[in-house]
This record gives sequence, structure tokens and C-alpha cells, in this order.
Amino acid sequence: MTWKVEIDPQQCMASGSCAAIAPDLFVLDGEHARPLKERIDEDERALDAADVCPAVAITVRDGAEIVGPRP
Ligand code: SF4
Repeated sequence: MTWKVEIDPQQCMASGSCAAIAPDLFVLDGEHARPLKERIDEDERALDAADVCPAVAITVRDGAEIVGPRP
């Protein structure tokens, strides 16, 4: 299965945490981070990044189900 990764640019505060955890998945691009790929293979680090994002700006979906951030 592939996951869909989104970052809400309105929420992102450019902390850089996501890019530090998974530089091949996220990049800090000016004032906001963005996913390098919208669809990724299942990757625990995407969930880790969603969990630690101080702005709760990252959403990881498996189909219709939100898998990150974790509850
Ligand atoms: S961890 Fe969250 S707030 Fe920080 S750069 Fe990534 S998306 Fe933005």
C-alpha cells in the first residue's frame, strides 16, 4: 500500500523537524515544508514526523484512513 502525505502550509511553522527526521520525504522550502512526494511507500518515519510536528500540519493517509499523526 502507498500512503498519501500532505502538509498544510497554513499550519506549518517551518520548524524543520520533519525534514530532520526524513530528509528524503520532506524538505523545508522557504517559509514552509513540503513533502517531496505526495505518495510514499509505507514508512514509519512519516508517522514519526507527523507525531512530532509542533504545528500538527502533517497528515498521512492510507486510503481514506488517517494514520498519522497517531492518536
Ligand atoms: S515539522 Fe511541521 S511545522 Fe515543522 S517544518 Fe515540518 S510540517 Fe512544518
